[in-house]
Order: sequence, then C-alpha cells, then structure tokens
Amino acid sequence: MSLFQHNECNTASFQPSIRLCYNHPLLRNHSESAGFMNPHPLRYLSAYSSDVQHQANQLLNSNQLGSLLKQRHPQAHQLSSGLLYDYAQDLKNRYMRSSPPISKVIYDDKIHVVEHALGLHTFVSRVQGGKLKAKNEIRISTLFRNTPEAFLRMIIVHELSHLKEKAHNKAFYKLCQHMEPDYFQLELDVRLYLCHRDLYGDLW
Ligand SMILES: [Zn+2]
Repeated sequence: MSLFQHNECNTASFQPSIRLCYNHPLLRNHSESAGFMNPHPLRYLSAYSSDVQHQANQLLNSNQLGSLLKQRHPQAHQLSSGLLYDYAQDLKNRYMRSSPPISKVIYDDKIHVVEHALGLHTFVSRVQGGKLKAKNEIRISTLFRNTPEAFLRMIIVHELSHLKEKAHNKAFYKLCQHMEPDYFQLELDVRLYLCHRDLYGDLW
C-alpha cells in the first residue's frame, strides 16, 4: 500500500503574505519544546506578514477576534456528517469534473492533533483480487463539524485541489480560487479562528 499525504509547504511566491501550509512545523516545534500546555498563540499564522500577526495579536489579547469572526460568519453550518461526501462531490462536479473520482470524504478526529493538519488528501492504492485499485480519500479535521459553511468549503476546496496539484504551488492556489474566489480570506479567517479557539474555545 502506498500512501500520499501532502505534508510539506511550498511557498507560493505570488502571494508572499498569504502562503499557507496545512502542516504546521511551528506547531510541532512548540508542542515538543514548550509543551502542549503552552503553545505559541500565533502558531497558525506563522506564514503571514508581521503586520497581520501584530493585528491578530492585538485582537486576541483584547478578546475581540471572536466577535469579529462572528460578524463575518454568524452561523455554523447545518451539514450532517453523512452529507459531507455529497457536499464535496457537488463542488467537484461543478469545477473539477474531469479529475479522478473521490471515494470517501470523512471527518477525522486525529489529524489535527496527531498530524498537525486541518485536512488530508490521501491517495491509497491497494491490491484487490489481483488488481491494483487506487482511491482518493479526503479527511477533514472534526473541528470543521462546528464551523461556518465557508470554513468547511475552504478546507474541502483545498483538498479537492490536491486531486490535480500535489504541491502548494501557483497552479494549486489558482484552482482553489477558481472554486472559491474568496479562498485566501477564508483561509486567513480559519487560521484566526484556530488562534482564538486555542485561547477561548469554540465560537459556534
Ligand atoms: Zn495542502
């Protein structure tokens, strides 16, 4: 069985202030050296400009980040876990019909904690009855169970784009933006929410 996981980040040079990575090297460093109880509050924003980090820090310290995010995204989605696959398939049908099929889209409660990831696209090939069968599976961190639909859409768009582009390169982000024009803002909002959540808990 071979397993593909995207867990490296290639700098998207076309948008230096918003290069993003779903594997958080900083998170790993901090959790190992400083202990899980005291991680860096801005660890999800390490790839952003110091200006963005500074603003985020001020909003966090004054506990204003939560209300700001809630203004932008008032409600959590109502999508049940059983409909996650249909939701992703619908997006794929609309924008990426010719890409390889997805066999599974599920929530995974381990990937955020263990893999330091928000979502994973896994390409699994198995020998089944003498034949090699390849399957694309998408795993989404369970924290997206209780977030606005826009956040869920962002992470699914990200993982769907990996069907075509394995690396976080220019073509990859172009595809993300094709499916979700507001992709970069949403990814920043998700990361801001993660910072908020570490300090103050769930928002929705
Ligand atoms: Zn990725």
